[in-house]
Amino acid sequence: MTYDYDDQNIFAKILRGEIPNDTVAENDHALAFRDIAPKAPTHVLVIPKGQYVSFDDFSANASEAEIVGFMRLCAKVCASEGVSLGDGHEGFRAIANSGPHGVQEVPHFHLHIMGGRMMGPMVS
Ligand code: 5GP
Repeated sequence: MTYDYDDQNIFAKILRGEIPNDTVAENDHALAFRDIAPKAPTHVLVIPKGQYVSFDDFSANASEAEIVGFMRLCAKVCASEGVSLGDGHEGFRAIANSGPHGVQEVPHFHLHIMGGRMMGPMVS
C-alpha cells in the first residue's frame, strides 16, 4: 500500500515553521499543538514529524521509535492537560479521522485529544 503525501498541507507547513501554532509539547518524533477551532476545553492535535497521511499509513510504515515517541507525547499531553485517568481525572476522547470516510480534513496524520467536558455519543 502506498500513500501519496502532499507536502503543502497545513500541518506540513506548521512542522516547517511556515505558519504559527500554539505548541503544547514536543519530542524528537512528534508535535502537539492546540486545534485552531477547539471542540472541547482541551482540544490538542498530536502529529508525527514524519510524512504520514493517515492512521493506517503511520501504523504500517512508521518506525518503532516514531510510534513510541508519538504515543508517549500523547500521554504527556493528557497529563499536562489534566485529563489522564491515571491521575484521577475524568478522561478524554482520542480520535484519528482517516480518509474520505473518516472525514479527514488535513492529510497529515493527527490524533485529536479532547477533554474537559463530557463527550457526546459516537453517532457519526
Ligand atoms: P480532521 O478533520 O482532519 O481530523 O481535523 C483537522 C483539524 O485541524 C480540525 O479540527 C481543524 O480545526 C484543525 N486545523 C485546521 N487548520 C488548522 C491550523 O491552521 N492550525 C491549527 N492549530 N489547527 C488547524
